Amino acid sequence: DVGCLATLTPEQFADGCGEVVKHAVIADPELFAELEKTPLTLELLNRDVARVALIIARNIDIKRAVVVADECETNQRKLLNFGHSAGHAVEACENFELGHGNCVSIGMGIITRAAALHGICDAELPARIEELCARHGLKTRCELSADAVFAEALHDKKRAGDTIDLVIPHDIGRCSIDRTPLSTFHELIAEGLGQKGDAFAC
Ligand SMILES: [Zn+2]
Repeated sequence: DVGCLATLTPEQFADGCGEVVKHAVIADPELFAELEKTPLTLELLNRDVARVALIIARNIDIKRAVVVADECETNQRKLLNFGHSAGHAVEACENFELGHGNCVSIGMGIITRAAALHGICDAELPARIEELCARHGLKTRCELSADAVFAEALHDKKRAGDTIDLVIPHDIGRCSIDRTPLSTFHELIAEGLGQKGDAFAC
């Protein structure tokens, strides 16, 4: 019942859109381009409920395809974690007062800016993702220190010993799952937050 979305506050609706943008980045360049033209908003819901229903169906398809691929032990399910390793840490740092979608959006911003600094993705990609998030009412930046975010990231359930599996964006629709040393993750967070040059004590 897509109509029930109309009962959400704009903030709650935007939080859901954080996952929609994430799905577009990991799996669907066409959806990304469509959202760039027409963002998914409460206003669109009022104007064109059929279009909103189509976008939601597309998102369910993306999630299903990723999960089904995972049954063949391809590990693809971890792609759904894009923006979440840093995002969950931001959520904890914000005492869970900032919505999940906003935190994921900040996490996507952090990891994409760091990827661009390393030449893994196009230099324009962070701005493209940030712009799309902004058009959905989502933040992609925060004032937290890299050390504080990293300290929370150590509690991440995706962490395995001294490494963590990070989803790294190469392009829209093309992400990799990279087993990353925690010390490198700390540096990536600092780079993504524009705090490169800090001491990396870990
Ligand atoms: Zn999420």
